[in-house]
Amino acid sequence: MFVGYSEFSMITILHTKDDLSKHLKSLKNKGETIGFVPTMGALHAGHLSLMEEAMSLTTTLVVSIFVNPTQFNNQNDLEKYPRDVSKDASIIQERLGSKNICIYAPTVEDVYDDEVSAKKYTYDGLENVMEGANRPGHFDGVGTILEFLFKLIKPDVSIFGEKDFQQLQIVKKLVKKLKLPIKIKGAAIHREPNMLAMSSRNERLSKAARMQAGFIFKSLELAKSHFKVHSVLQTEKYIEKLYAAQKDITLEYFTIADEKTLKTVTRKSKDRTCRAFIVAHIEGVRLIDNMKLD
Ligand code: AMP
Repeated sequence: MFVGYSEFSMITILHTKDDLSKHLKSLKNKGETIGFVPTMGALHAGHLSLMEEAMSLTTTLVVSIFVNPTQFNNQNDLEKYPRDVSKDASIIQERLGSKNICIYAPTVEDVYDDEVSAKKYTYDGLENVMEGANRPGHFDGVGTILEFLFKLIKPDVSIFGEKDFQQLQIVKKLVKKLKLPIKIKGAAIHREPNMLAMSSRNERLSKAARMQAGFIFKSLELAKSHFKVHSVLQTEKYIEKLYAAQKDITLEYFTIADEKTLKTVTRKSKDRTCRAFIVAHIEGVRLIDNMKLD
């Protein structure tokens, strides 16, 4: 393995909350600031860009790698989720070095003890649309794991990808509601050469399907041009028609919503920014993307 920073130092990987607490306590005593990037592993360049952003803002990076069972509403998706912490650690070490970086890769028991269940959260309605409506309980699971991680790690800054735009807005709300002194920052969507949004789930696609999935970004660009001269409804119908003509790609939803409230928009207005949100399925893999429209 090539190690950019030092041949002899290895990245710190901790598997229990007690070990992590001890480690962080000594860092904080030395005046280190903490940047935190939560992930479910199977790391790609999108994840790494979040880590680079955190490292540019703080002196120590904490990355969590944990496939959180309570945010999955589909058992098959949970079981098939790729897991390889050693490979992930090598990817981080090769790209970012090992100095001032710590990985927290707990077991389910370390996080949940005996009770693997989600707490209930309300996020002022942000949770009732799109991913919240289509994946019941998903944002309760997200809230449960993030409340646990935020209170354990107490980061100064935490970075989230705009790929999961609804999640980013919900995390900002969660931190506000829990009155946690953490700055939440969004980071741009990283894409593959054919503009498919990078995702750990892309690994499950055949080569041909992965190429075809570039259509999702193309459809968002078409939606953006269409929206310039047509109404919200006309744009939604146009996109639905595009997908109806696709043999191998199925549309789950396409919605135009207000970026801040995430409420579906029915009419254009200068007072808000609209964003298109899409979920499509290829070879049984659920792919998500979004794009600012104006
Ligand atoms: P995940 O491991 O899928 O839970 O994602 C961990 C974090 O990485 C989340 O904040 C995601 O929004 C972010 N992320 C995932 N894919 C991308 C991407 N293609 N570009 C930017 N951020 C991403």
